[in-house]
Amino acid sequence: MADRIQSSSQQRNYHYNRTHTQKRTAKYDNTWREFSSNYRKRNPFCVECREEGLFNSKDIHVDHIVPLEKAPDRKYDLENLQSLCRRHHGIKTAKETLHAPESPVERF
Ligand SMILES: [Zn+2]
Repeated sequence: MADRIQSSSQQRNYHYNRTHTQKRTAKYDNTWREFSSNYRKRNPFCVECREEGLFNSKDIHVDHIVPLEKAPDRKYDLENLQSLCRRHHGIKTAKETLHAPESPVERF
């Protein structure tokens, strides 16, 4: 019975997060920008690309392994940081937003 309600509210959350990303970027202030640029200098390659045997240093984002929403006090915790390229960062963010283990297959 609750299944239908849950899945529709998940979809609404997805749109909510998408439309509110502007506001949420406020957590990335100047201190963070400086910190993350130093981190990227020391960790220039995407860790996921490294898993695939690639050394990718293009469009690197400093990602929080445990998202800031869940662990705001770990913002500058080196143990909680990893370098991700734009593609892998997007994949991780999408997974966190949708809570889906893999990207859904589109069916027509
Ligand atoms: Zn990557």
